Amino acid sequence: MNLYSSKEMTDLLERHNFFFKKNLGQNFLMNESIAARIADASFETVPKSGKKSLAIEIGPGAGSLTLQLAKRFDSVLALEIDPHLIGVLDESLADESNVKVVQADALAYDFSKVLRDYPEHSIAVCSNLPYYITSEIIMRLLESALPITSITVLIQKEAAVRLTSKPGSEQYGAITAAVGFYASSEKLFTVGPGNFIPRPKVDSAVLRLTPYGEPAVKVQDQELFFKLIRAAFGNRRKTLSNALSSALKVCYSKEHILKMLDLAEIDPNRRGETLSLEEYAKISDAFTNSR
Ligand code: SAM
Repeated sequence: MNLYSSKEMTDLLERHNFFFKKNLGQNFLMNESIAARIADASFETVPKSGKKSLAIEIGPGAGSLTLQLAKRFDSVLALEIDPHLIGVLDESLADESNVKVVQADALAYDFSKVLRDYPEHSIAVCSNLPYYITSEIIMRLLESALPITSITVLIQKEAAVRLTSKPGSEQYGAITAAVGFYASSEKLFTVGPGNFIPRPKVDSAVLRLTPYGEPAVKVQDQELFFKLIRAAFGNRRKTLSNALSSALKVCYSKEHILKMLDLAEIDPNRRGETLSLEEYAKISDAFTNSR
């Protein structure tokens, strides 16, 4: 079966009475060479150490990317939420004995199981992600205890630009800072809407994240650090001191916030999106040390 032929894909889906669900972000990749490039970008991050390799795929759909992952990795674990795709995958991946398909919501999946089921494997995550879970699943994976060598994802281009933007740019947001705490990011290439069925409205892009192992900056209270970042980005038109005091007024007076910014040597009139992670860490530690 050729999964990249529209006719064969349509026949396969019809045989299983499958209908696309917009709310699950179902846009299937139909271009074999793009699927191969994404799988290559993921596989090249796996250390050639003699360890076995595992690809975790979120949302295999009908298997277009899974097939390419199965050719490169020793094992593939594919988590698909839609029960109507399980029969489709059984047929499309019938020859791929190294793929395990699990019907599960990736947002609720206990990733610690992977360590038990695939001990001693080098793990990479590779996926054409459903747009509605992009930030949440990336953060879940980065915060999990899984030793992941890379996360290679096809996502909306706008999200890829945001996640690779630098402090001070218009696209830099709280999610950019949060991801940047755990990983470096690179935008690899753009993929046009004509490569999917159904056709999405916007361009997509491949983003690769490489976790640092240790967070990018040292901070005494990680929860407070992220709370400050969210507060600072809560209202982009406000200065840092105004954004922090309106978001955190239940916990801290404006006077106290100004004092902490002064201790951290940060100008209170700056905007949240211009600060680096190191600067947020200095502010966060000033709050922690003043308790
Ligand atoms: N990988 C396939 C491809 O490239 O053709 C399909 C990609 S499609 C953009 C996203 C897939 O993720 C769909 O199959 C959808 O059902 C699945 N999905 C959506 N939400 C999910 C979730 N929370 N957990 C696991 N899979 C999910």
